[in-house]
Amino acid sequence: MRRILIVGAGQAGLQLALGLQAQDYDVTVMSNRTADEIRGGRVMSTQCMFDQALQHERDTQINFWESQAPRVQGLGVSVAAPDGSRAIDWLGHLDHYAQSVDQRLKMAGWLETFAQRGGQLVVHGAAVSDLDFFARTYDLVLVAAGKGELVSMFARDAERSPYDAPQRALAVAYVHGLGPRPEHPDTEAVRCNLVPGVGELFVIPCLTTSGRCDTLFWEGVPGGPLDVFRDIKDPAEHLATTLELMEKFLPWEYARATKVELTDAGGTLAGRYAPTVRKPVGRLPGGGAVLGVADVVVANDPITGQGSNSASKCAAAYLAAILEHGDRPFDEAWMQATFDRYWETARHVTTWTNAMLAPPPEHVVNMLGAAGELQPVADRFANGFNNPADFEEWFYDPAKTEAYLASVTG
Ligand SMILES: Cc1cc2nc3c(=O)[nH]c(=O)nc-3n(C[C@H](O)[C@H](O)[C@H](O)COP(=O)(O)OP(=O)(O)OC[C@H]3O[C@@H](n4cnc5c(N)ncnc54)[C@H](O)[C@@H]3O)c2cc1C
Repeated sequence: MRRILIVGAGQAGLQLALGLQAQDYDVTVMSNRTADEIRGGRVMSTQCMFDQALQHERDTQINFWESQAPRVQGLGVSVAAPDGSRAIDWLGHLDHYAQSVDQRLKMAGWLETFAQRGGQLVVHGAAVSDLDFFARTYDLVLVAAGKGELVSMFARDAERSPYDAPQRALAVAYVHGLGPRPEHPDTEAVRCNLVPGVGELFVIPCLTTSGRCDTLFWEGVPGGPLDVFRDIKDPAEHLATTLELMEKFLPWEYARATKVELTDAGGTLAGRYAPTVRKPVGRLPGGGAVLGVADVVVANDPITGQGSNSASKCAAAYLAAILEHGDRPFDEAWMQATFDRYWETARHVTTWTNAMLAPPPEHVVNMLGAAGELQPVADRFANGFNNPADFEEWFYDPAKTEAYLASVTG
């Protein structure tokens, strides 16, 4: 039986571990936290996942929260005008629903399931020296440790990483008590609110440890008026600041947030990181090689809400590559080829996300405006979150955008 070590108990690591376990591989997961520590800890993401990524969880039969989590049917875009009104405001419909399950709930549950099914769990924060040892005793070592220190083993791919500094300051609050948007009271939707030059607020329906909630997620341009969360330690102050900024920049979102309260003391998060693509093979001091997974090798800014989706897609691609490889050695050539296969999907996410971090070009502003009048355009934009490769066809090139809009207007 092939022995595989996975370092990191996140979306990618655990999805892959449970998938391999179901195929009778001998899998060890190394996690720097126990399930209880994850469940009782701080939120880590807003983790909205779209149909393709959710389907990988269904295929692995680990979609344990699907019946409880809100079904997100739409994705709306609102752009703030200087006078506090909405210059653009529409709702696109998703062909298939999206869902967000608090990673504290999901990862704790998956970790327990992995152990209950006989998987070996080592609770330990792995260092490079540990991996040096384990690379000799396992057939394959996968590093799925997110954006933590182990990324230092993987060289930055400068050609694929146009930014070398964080492009947004991130601030999340999980709340109960948010009202519906009055114009669509019965439609669960992700709301993308854009404040030109300042940042974005994403409002996402979610399932957390205490039931249904919403996440209020500010992405602020560094140094701007939203970049004020770094020194806030008190969760209540974090929420109060979130709401003050909503009242100032997005009064229509504030209007439905006047009764909100934090889901729990761990329901806030602030931070920032530079979007980075890395070389997939990490070389160890003792000569061994390890393969990076998901955020370790492709970490995009969460402005497009793709990281968990990509982690799911990466886990599915790697699972297929491992199964297909049978008993042959997992050498560096296989590692590179396995990543290259995932990159065919991931590159679209990186291109789109990096584009969304920059001020929008004129043809994109026009398209977002046109989507308010043309429902198929709004729907196509919304469904691009499920399949970012589609943006290649109509989003980046002004001529293609124009041709598409002309085809819709007839
Ligand atoms: C504010 C914010 C909002 C986001 N919103 C969305 C969204 O709406 N939709 C979406 O798709 N994505 C979103 N993302 C991105 C998404 O959360 C990540 O891309 C995704 O979780 C990456 O999965 P992963 O498995 O690669 O890593 P992680 O989820 O980071 O998991 C890595 C795990 O490894 C553990 N670990 C780290 N170092 C070690 C070590 N040395 N030894 C052992 N264990 C270790 C960590 O504790 C963690 O449990 C968001 C991210 C942020 C920060």
